[in-house]
Parts: sequence; C-alpha cells; structure tokens
Amino acid sequence: MSTDRHARIPQTSPLETYVERRDALDATLRAVLAKGIYILGDEVKAFEQEFAAFLGAQYAIGVGNGTDAIELALRACGVEDGDRVVTVSHTAVATVAAIRRCGGIPVLVDIDPATYTMDPESLSLCLRRLDSAGKKVKVIVPVHLYGCPADMPSILSVAGRYDIPVVEDCAQAHGATQGGRRVGTMGALGAFSFYPTKNLGAFGDGGAVLTQSGELASKIKSLRQYGWRQRYISETDGINSRLDEMQAAMLRVLLPELDEGNKARRSIAEMYTRQLRGTGLALPVEPVDCRHVYHQYVIRVPRRDTFRSLMAGQGVDTAIHYPLAVHQQAPYRECAGTVSLENTERILPEIVSLPIYPQLGFIRATRVCEVLAETLSTLL
Ligand SMILES: *Cc1c(COP(=O)(O)O)cnc(C)c1O
Repeated sequence: MSTDRHARIPQTSPLETYVERRDALDATLRAVLAKGIYILGDEVKAFEQEFAAFLGAQYAIGVGNGTDAIELALRACGVEDGDRVVTVSHTAVATVAAIRRCGGIPVLVDIDPATYTMDPESLSLCLRRLDSAGKKVKVIVPVHLYGCPADMPSILSVAGRYDIPVVEDCAQAHGATQGGRRVGTMGALGAFSFYPTKNLGAFGDGGAVLTQSGELASKIKSLRQYGWRQRYISETDGINSRLDEMQAAMLRVLLPELDEGNKARRSIAEMYTRQLRGTGLALPVEPVDCRHVYHQYVIRVPRRDTFRSLMAGQGVDTAIHYPLAVHQQAPYRECAGTVSLENTERILPEIVSLPIYPQLGFIRATRVCEVLAETLSTLL
C-alpha cells in the first residue's frame, strides 16, 4: 500500500489486511476450494477451538454473522416472545435488532460519558424501576463499544442481584481484557462478529458465540442448524446460521496476528492521545485494569461537520459511529422511556472516529496528527 504523504488516508481499510497477507490467504482459499467441503467442516472446527483457546473460553461456535451470534446467545438463554432484554441505546443497531429477532422487547439504558459503555447506575435504576412495576428482565447485554470493555464487575454484580444472565456484545472488542480476562468470557455467553472491518475480520460475513457452559454450547450448535441434534432431525425451532469453511480458514490465518494488530492500534491511539492532550477535547479513556483494543478512536469535537470537511480537505477520512442512537430510529422509539438517556443524547452530535487500523502505520498516523493540529487551530 502506498504511504505517500499525499495519498488519501481512509478511516478503515480491510483491503490492506488482505494485501498484507495475500500469499497465505490465497493459498488457504485454494486449499479449501480443492478439498470440496464448504460448510461446517474441519476448518470451522479448528477455528472454533483456536478462537476459544485464544479467549480462554471452553467453547466457541461459529455462526453466520455477529447479529445472529447475539440472537442465538439470547435464545440459548431462553429469550422468547415478550421477554425484556436490557442493553444500551448507543450501539450498532445490530445489538437491538438481534433482541427483536428472537421476539424480545429491548429496554435501553444510558452510557457512561467517558467510556461510552453501559452505565451500571443507569442499569441498576432501570432494573429497580422494572422490578417495582412487576416486570421481569430475561437478559442484560453490555456492549464493549469501540474496543473498550464495559464495566463488567459492576454490571455482573447488578445483574447478580436479580439473577439475570449477561450476554456480552464483543463485536468491537476481540482480545480486549478486563482484570486480565478477555471480554466474552465473563458473562454467560459472548457474541463476536467477523465483519471485515472488525479487529478480527473475515472477507465476508461471520460470527461466533463463546461460552464456558457445555449445555449452552450444545444449544447454540443445535440452533445454528435447524434445531438439529442429529442430522435431519429437528428437536427445536432453529435457524440456518453457519460459518463457512473459506471464512474460517482465512480467520485461522489472521487469528495468530490479532494481538499484534491490537498492539498496532494501541500505538496509533497513543500517538493521537499525545497529539490531542491539552486541546480540552474529550478523548478515549482506558478504564483501570482494562486493555482497550481501539476498534475505533473516538473524540468529541464542536462543529463536527466543519471538522470533518476540513480533515477531508487535507485527505483524511473520518466516520461517525453512530449518527443516531438506536432509540432515535423509527422502529425503536418505544424502547426508550424507562430511564433517562441524556448522556447518549448529549455526546451524539459531537462524536467522530479518526482513522485507525493495524496497517495504517507510523507515517500515515503522523500525517493524521499534523492534519488534526491544523484543523483544530482553525476550528477551536
Ligand atoms: C458489527 C456489530 C454487530 C453485528 O455484527 P454483524 O456481523 O455485522 O452482524 C453487533 N454489535 C456491534 C456492537 C457491532 O459493532
């Protein structure tokens, strides 16, 4: 890839992941094609074992995408029509769509404005209010947004008071840790996406559900394929959501480099933080005892549109994750109302994501810093 200082700097670039490992990935693809088994074969089995071992989980089950991973995790916890599931409004719509898909009623709580992840106080207030109205909650879904672990110790303790299982949405946090444990291993189940731009990304759709429980693992395995226990014999209503052999084989090439990739993301984050410290802007924080994996590096700026067009004018692309909170979108308006979502609504018009991905490299990250300095001197 060109590191010409005048070439455009994209906000993310899955193509560069491919280019970096082209030979290994091409060879792997050819081997899978020649073998003649394309769905749920040895590559998927091997990837499931390797991914579980990497995270320190007992079981990983490969599925079609991250949204399905959340849906199947919820169904394994028994979520069905009319069951309430609590999550945040500041997340990818996928989190909430997955709750709806299994018939659940999403209930949205607020975030901590420093980490952008579930605020345990807001969760606690929400559960207290629902409880005193005699309404039960089936599952709680914290999201490790932007690669930052949600406050799992507090969330698990609040959940424990009501005996509610926790499903972690880990779609943006492959390899992030809290108290030395990888996210996805602290709740009853963890759901991962391998969408191409994620920290561990495939070249198409893919996802996985992680768990320590053999019972939950076998439920997920059955649900991902028509509720089969035995081939062609359904025991429950299942769906078709399978990781394919080509994606699994390519993920096996990339998994051993995940920690390195996350390290590269962290050094880019460090450069940005050094550059921006002293501007007074809100920067990402790494909670104590946590390892943030910077799926995104999100700052808050005044006059965001101007900021973005000044950056773009200098060849630096930015993105917004996300332009609207979930409860501000038509199908999900009624999911709000149990607690205040003021932090979510307050940060939303200001957030912007800077370029970050492992192959960005020192030279281009330095260029982003220069352009940032110039842009902010105009803007602030
Ligand atoms: C990407 C993402 C998902 C969904 O993953 P898909 O593989 O696109 O279905 C779910 N939650 C969050 C937070 C995500 O970023």
